[in-house]
Amino acid sequence: MAESDDKKNAITESGHDGKGQEQREKNENRCSLCGRPESAAGTLISMPNGMHICADCMEKSLSDMRKHFDIDSLLDAAPGMQFLNMGDLMHPAPHEQKQEEEQPLPEFEMKSVPAPHVIRRQLDQYVVGQEHAKKVLSVAVYNHYKRIIEEEKITREKKAESDGKAKQDTPWLVEIDKSNVLLLGPTGSGKTYLVQTLAKLLDVPLAITDATSLTEAGYIGDDIESVVSKLLAAGNNVAKAEHGIIFVDEIDKIARKKNANQRDVSGEAVQQGMLKLLEGAEVEVPVGATSKNAMVPMKLVNTKNILFIVGGAFSGLEDIIRERLNRHSSIGFQADLKDKYDDDRYILRKVTTEDLRKFGMIPEFLGRLPIVCPLDPLDEDMLMEILSKPRNAILRQYETLLAMDEVKLTFEDGALRAIAKQALEKDTGARALRSIIESFMLDIMYEIPKDDNIGEVVITEDYVEHRGAPKILMRSSG
Ligand code: ADP
Repeated sequence: MAESDDKKNAITESGHDGKGQEQREKNENRCSLCGRPESAAGTLISMPNGMHICADCMEKSLSDMRKHFDIDSLLDAAPGMQFLNMGDLMHPAPHEQKQEEEQPLPEFEMKSVPAPHVIRRQLDQYVVGQEHAKKVLSVAVYNHYKRIIEEEKITREKKAESDGKAKQDTPWLVEIDKSNVLLLGPTGSGKTYLVQTLAKLLDVPLAITDATSLTEAGYIGDDIESVVSKLLAAGNNVAKAEHGIIFVDEIDKIARKKNANQRDVSGEAVQQGMLKLLEGAEVEVPVGATSKNAMVPMKLVNTKNILFIVGGAFSGLEDIIRERLNRHSSIGFQADLKDKYDDDRYILRKVTTEDLRKFGMIPEFLGRLPIVCPLDPLDEDMLMEILSKPRNAILRQYETLLAMDEVKLTFEDGALRAIAKQALEKDTGARALRSIIESFMLDIMYEIPKDDNIGEVVITEDYVEHRGAPKILMRSSG
C-alpha cells in the first residue's frame, strides 16, 4: 500500500505523466481574463471576489485605462487616492522574497539581552543629557525583552498542556504587562534620536510614524495598521518585526479637542483605534506597500511583543501642570509660594496622568502607556556638547570630511557657544544646530580644497557671528 502510494507520487511529481499534468492544471488557479493556469501565466493576483488576474492582463487593463482616463489629474484631484505600482505586485519586492524562506527566530534568551546599565552606557555615547530618560528607557527595554521571554515560556507551556505533555512540577508563570512608553519633551530634545539609537544598539527593526498621518478609518492619510507594515518592511521578516519597536511621534496632536462642538475625527478616534495595537493584536498588514488594497499581499503580524514608544512636545502641558501645582500650594500656609513654579524649567518632570487626561489624552490610551518619561529642554551647555561630544557629532563629521583633504579643522570654544546661542534662539532644540553650521561651513568646504597649502582652519566666534573670517594656517614647508 505504502509502496503504491510512493509510486503514484513519483509519477505525479516527475511531471512526465500527461494525466498528472492535466490534473495539476485543473487544480490550479486560472486567470479570469485570459484563462491561462498559474503555471503558464506566472503569479496570479487574487481579487476579493475569488477572481485571479495574471500580470499580462493586468498590464493590458491598466494601459487601456490610461488611454481613457488622465490618471495624473485623477491623482491630483484625490490626494488620498493611491495607485499601485504594478511592478511591486508582479515581481515580489526583495523583502517579500526573503519572507518566503522565513524561518522563526530562535527564542530570546536572557543572556542575549543587555542589562540596563549596559544599554545606558551605550546610549551615553550618542545622547547628551536626558539622564532620567536614558535610565527609564534602558529599564523599560530590558523589562520588555524579559517579558517576551516569559511570554514565550507561557506559550510553550500552553502548547505542552494541550498536547498532554505538561510537566507536573512546572513553576507558576506570571504574565508581565506590556511596558509601552510615552516620551514627552520639547521639539529637538532627542526623543526620536533616543529611540533610533536604542533600536540600533539592540539591533531590532524600528518603524517611525507620525500620529497626524493616522486615521481610524484609513481613507485619508495612513491607516493605523500601515505602521505595522512599515515595521515589517524594516525587519524583512514577521518574526523580527514582532519583536521590534514602533515610534509614533506627535502623539499630542491626536489629543481630544477641548471644544466639544468641534468635529473630532482625528483625535479621540485615532486614540481609540490605537488601543488594540498597543495592547497586542493580530493585524493583517500589506506587504511591500503602505496601503491596504485588495491586490496587495497580506501578512499577519502580532503586536503583543512590539514595544510601542510614543512621543510628543505637548505644548501647553506645562501650564496644566503649573495650574495643578499652584492650586495645591495656594491651600493653607503654602499660599505665599503660589508663583514658585513659574520659572521651573523642569516642570514636565512633575507630570501626572491627570495632567495628560486634562490635555486631551483618553484614559484607556494612557492606561496602555504605563511608562511616562519627560525629557528636559536643552540648554546652551548641552547644545555645545551635542556639537562635539557624541560619537557621530556634527563637528566630528566635518573634521573627518576635511581630514580627507589633509586639513585640520578646529573650533574655538567661543565659536561653539555662539552656535549654541543661535540655536537656542530658534527654539527648535538641537535641530537648529545642523542648519546653522551648514550655512557657514559651505564656504569653507568650497574654498579650502582649492589651495593645497592650507593645513588648518580655525572657526572663530567672529566668523560664526559674521563679524570676521576664520583663521587659515598654511602648511609649514619643512
Ligand atoms: P525630537 O525630540 O523632536 O524627536 P530629535 O530626536 O529628532 O528631536 O532631535 C533632532 C536631532 O538633534 C537628532 O537627530 C540629533 O542629532 C540631535 N539631538 C537632539 N537631542 C539630542 C541629545 N540629547 N543628544 C544628542 N543629539 C541630540
